Amino acid sequence: MYSGYGVMPEVTEVADPACPADGAVIAVGATGVCRSDWHAWKGHDPVALPHIGGHEFAGTVVALGPEVVRWRVGDRVTVPFACGCGRCEYCLAGDAQVCPRQTQPGFTGPGSFAELVAVHAADANLVALPASVDFVTAACLGCRFATAFRALTGHGRVRAGDWLAVHGCGGVGLSAVLIGVALGARVVAVDVVPAALDRARELGAEVTVNASDTDPADVVGEVTGGGAHVSVDALGSADVAEVSVRCLRRRGRHVQVGLLLDGATALPMDLVIARELEIYGSHGMAARDYPAMMRLVADGTLRPGQLIAKVIGLEGVGQALAAMGSPGSTAGMIIVAFSM
Ligand SMILES: [Zn+2]
Ligand SMILES: [Zn+2]
Repeated sequence: MYSGYGVMPEVTEVADPACPADGAVIAVGATGVCRSDWHAWKGHDPVALPHIGGHEFAGTVVALGPEVVRWRVGDRVTVPFACGCGRCEYCLAGDAQVCPRQTQPGFTGPGSFAELVAVHAADANLVALPASVDFVTAACLGCRFATAFRALTGHGRVRAGDWLAVHGCGGVGLSAVLIGVALGARVVAVDVVPAALDRARELGAEVTVNASDTDPADVVGEVTGGGAHVSVDALGSADVAEVSVRCLRRRGRHVQVGLLLDGATALPMDLVIARELEIYGSHGMAARDYPAMMRLVADGTLRPGQLIAKVIGLEGVGQALAAMGSPGSTAGMIIVAFSM
């Protein structure tokens, strides 16, 4: 829990979360430390203080509200970071990731850097974990991995043989590299940190580009023979978003995944028209779309465990968040594991 923005979080005793009438309380088995948690902690994405972060988790259902019909105590589950209300037109259409009344544990309420976390609208938001997927692996899925999966499959429509450019090789970027390779794409990974580029290469990136040496759009254009079919800004900055659009081939697709928290962002709309580019924003993935991804995880086609840099205990969360402020911290995911 932290008492103010940028104040080092402390492990402390708080009251157990109340179970919503339509919700569940989950005993957290594992939870990821994500850049979005860092944004909240720094006050870029305001939360009510004091606050408990954490939004990429998996665990066991320990309590259910009286309105829940699909789940039982003891079920092993994960949830998307954006939980839909389960009732509005978007949720009923399966698009809970854009629900106007969405809740986000770790942002709109206390999160999963805790032994227990409450989730609203459990019937709409809980996702069953296959027996073969352990909690640490599943904690990789909730935000960055699922976001990358949907960005590439839903918006990017990546096909085998396509060139995929991934700008920013932190958690979501490395997820996009891994998933792109598994889908048969040829991946160009862009970052400014050599260690992050090394990780991208280990995960199957065919080409890596250090953006501090060169204009990545020029390099991507050369190595792909005209530009990427799909490009992802996995970092979230105005400069990177602009480069991502410029590196596309004609009729290419840019997917904005990294958060742009500084307001309106200029993009080269002249190129968007002349080259008929498609621009997408991607905001996570709804529970409805998890089973397709979960099948590929369960059968070993996707191995999110490869993205884990370190498994730590709850007492290490503060240091892990603080380290996210420096660019060298981006070479994989940090997962908090609870002893069950
Ligand atoms: Zn809704
Ligand atoms: Zn996240």
